[in-house]
Amino acid sequence: MKKIRVRYAPSPTGYLHIGGARSALYNYLFAKHFNGEFVLRIEDTDIERNVEGAEESQINDLIWLGIIPDESPLKPNPKYAPYRQMEKIDVYQKYAKELIDKGYAYYCYCTEEELEAERQAQQLRGISAPQYNQRCLHLTKEEKETFEKEGRVPCIRLHLKPHHEIAFNDLVRGPVKFNNDDIGDWVIIKSNGIPTYNFAVVIDDHMMEITHVLRGEEHLSNTPKQIQLYEYFNWEIPEFGHMTLIVNETGKKLSKRDLNILQFMSQYRDKGYLPEAIMNFILLLGWSPEGEQEIFTLEEAVQIFDPKRLSKSPSMFDQNKLNWMNGQYIKKLDDEKYLELIKPFLAKVIDINTKEDSELLLIANLFKDQILFGEQIIDLLSPLVVYKKTTDEEEIALMNDPLSKEVYHVFARLIAETDELSTENIKAILKQTQIETGAKGKSLFMPIRLILTGETHGPELVNIIKVLGKKEILNRLNAI
Ligand code: GLU
Repeated sequence: MKKIRVRYAPSPTGYLHIGGARSALYNYLFAKHFNGEFVLRIEDTDIERNVEGAEESQINDLIWLGIIPDESPLKPNPKYAPYRQMEKIDVYQKYAKELIDKGYAYYCYCTEEELEAERQAQQLRGISAPQYNQRCLHLTKEEKETFEKEGRVPCIRLHLKPHHEIAFNDLVRGPVKFNNDDIGDWVIIKSNGIPTYNFAVVIDDHMMEITHVLRGEEHLSNTPKQIQLYEYFNWEIPEFGHMTLIVNETGKKLSKRDLNILQFMSQYRDKGYLPEAIMNFILLLGWSPEGEQEIFTLEEAVQIFDPKRLSKSPSMFDQNKLNWMNGQYIKKLDDEKYLELIKPFLAKVIDINTKEDSELLLIANLFKDQILFGEQIIDLLSPLVVYKKTTDEEEIALMNDPLSKEVYHVFARLIAETDELSTENIKAILKQTQIETGAKGKSLFMPIRLILTGETHGPELVNIIKVLGKKEILNRLNAI
């Protein structure tokens, strides 16, 4: 059997997005499950949209997720290089000429203005999806020369086989059919000599011996265009599979402009998510295993990945689920890894240079069970570290209540008397304060919380007391 080769082919137009990461992951799993190869190719022919540094950051983000390409611009196999499309423009031009010679493609001299006028005229005639009118299909040599004298620079269009049906069996959606009559002769090489995506992708997939093309649903309508090229070149057609959309909670396609949803890998990394958790979450965003298990390592995913279980309906992006999953992974981290994750965020609220790692860990561990992503420690710790007295009148009244005053008095005495602020001791101190003052529940805990943090909500009281330590607690108690 032929070696399985699949590819992830991003355009370097921005950071690695959740949709791109999903395509990369599924291709990777497909390759590894079937002992094949996973190729990363850069589709950079849309030169106006290319962004400096995007290729590097995309590759780094993939590596962060554990999705390591077997081949890429950084790890080229000489047999298939180059891995950036702009480095092989001459190759595409050569293949385009071959199509022209065979009568499958032709030069088109129409200007943008002429094409636009034609589009509008067709729309006026009630044609909702205007097509190129093939004005340049049969130009004579003289006509071409005249156009060239006028300074027109031609593009190259593919001449589609008329009334031809293109059918294929999509790995995700089953049989799909298109008809060339609905497509129209499309541009394969632009007048600046650069190939269009649909042309370059076929040349590359063929030359790189790609056996399966797994990509997003937005490319489904490109597939008949690509298959027509395979037919003209008489090349073996790869299998295609189109993954369904990722939608938001309202069922709309995830938009990169939706700033409420974290969508880029770099955002997750910056907020203290774990790559293993993100990978696990993406794994289930359009694919489901047999059974109920939800937590998988990358190796397990490779073992069990079955392309037949790719989802046929859109996958909903559920931020809460992602947070839950990340929290699960955080709970399982050992001390060293956990501190490594939390430290950059701790540094935003406390001076980490004056504390030993063991002290930092003590603080960080207070929140380990509750933290869903690293950055949350800032909010959890801030009220403890940056002391702001409340200005709320009701809260001030509560703190000045005679019962609260008594609570503070007893609590301060017991804190001062204790040797160590262990969980046990703290609980005993709270209990003793209750016994001596008669204040219970809210009337005991709320005033203490308020005076220690300036807020009515926050981390568990026991944790607050531990983090603050004896001296700071007594300072704050005296500060009323
Ligand atoms: N460069 C294309 C994209 O970023 C890849 C499409 C494909 O996989 O064929 O969407």
